[in-house]
Amino acid sequence: MTEVLELAKRLMAAESVTPATGSVFDRMEAMLAPLGFEVHRFTRGEGAPGTPEAPVENLFAIRRGPEGSKHFAFAGHLDVVPPGGGWASDAFEPEVRGDLLYGRGAVDMKGSIACMVEAVKHVPQDAGTISFIITGDEEGPALHGTRALIDYMRETGHQPDLCLVGEPTSVNRLGDMMKIGRRGSVNIWLEVEGTQGHVAYPHLAENPIPKLVAMLAELDALVLDEGNDWFQASNLEITDLEVGNPAHNVIPEAAKARISIRFNDEHSGASLSEKVITIAEKHGGKAMPIISGEPFLTPPGTFSDIIARAVKEETGVNPEPSTTGGTSDARFLRAVCPVIEFGLVNATMHKRDEAVAIEDLSTLSRIYTAIAKDALA
Ligand SMILES: [Zn+2]
Repeated sequence: MTEVLELAKRLMAAESVTPATGSVFDRMEAMLAPLGFEVHRFTRGEGAPGTPEAPVENLFAIRRGPEGSKHFAFAGHLDVVPPGGGWASDAFEPEVRGDLLYGRGAVDMKGSIACMVEAVKHVPQDAGTISFIITGDEEGPALHGTRALIDYMRETGHQPDLCLVGEPTSVNRLGDMMKIGRRGSVNIWLEVEGTQGHVAYPHLAENPIPKLVAMLAELDALVLDEGNDWFQASNLEITDLEVGNPAHNVIPEAAKARISIRFNDEHSGASLSEKVITIAEKHGGKAMPIISGEPFLTPPGTFSDIIARAVKEETGVNPEPSTTGGTSDARFLRAVCPVIEFGLVNATMHKRDEAVAIEDLSTLSRIYTAIAKDALA
């Protein structure tokens, strides 16, 4: 119990708001190297700091099992979201109060990474190959994080057979939920251009607002699907509406809006973009989509059974296989191998006074040990 707690505190004490750099990776490397892992660190991206193209630090570590053995990977991120104000203790000075460990990253997700490190101590090297796929940019643009790690694994022939992402998926108590998939996400910027003019002379102008309103009404009325066995129904939300016209007697020259679609595996980012572009053009406007992730599903089967068994054994709980919530780096990793997410209770993630139950850290590390052993068997 104390060992995994110390590991979590050491990682949390290294301030690492996205993109994480330097000391938090030094600490991770210092934990893995003595356990027989070859640690490879690299930086990808050449843009200016603060831009999506900014450099991102990544770490891939591998401990090889016997020739021909299976390869199981733990994946996660060492970056955290900014702490914000009002914490009862310093967000980057992890503090134990009562049964809880407080600090940014306690559940999302340095706590789980500490559990992974503790877990591998209890998996014999001859059980098989284990790797860590760790990025410093999951909470940000994620352009040069896990995607760059996947490139590296492909170049070096180190693709795992199964991958567990340690995002905090539990809801009310440790073990009650795993994510076997995630919805996709596309954000679309809409614009209608008109002709500016005097409201008293509308025949000399062209008002873009009624066109945009009609476009949004049609989009808002779309029923994309009814959901299916593993996914809730896809949903389109209007997230912004902007004209910015300060004058009461001017017909504006342009009107803009933005929508966000979270979609299941009955669509792709491209098929939805196409649908919205067609509707936008019909109303005299245009649509500019940015796809931030495609949906994925690892259908219930061998891998989810391995996780469910380990969770049940340690907690007595049957984890519900779910596809709810936002996107995660599993959306990239699924291109390499079957991937499922399972981790700590997410009630305080991204919040002030983020905290993890100390007991959960030791339980999760035992669950991770059991999953790794079973996955390699
Ligand atoms: Zn996370």
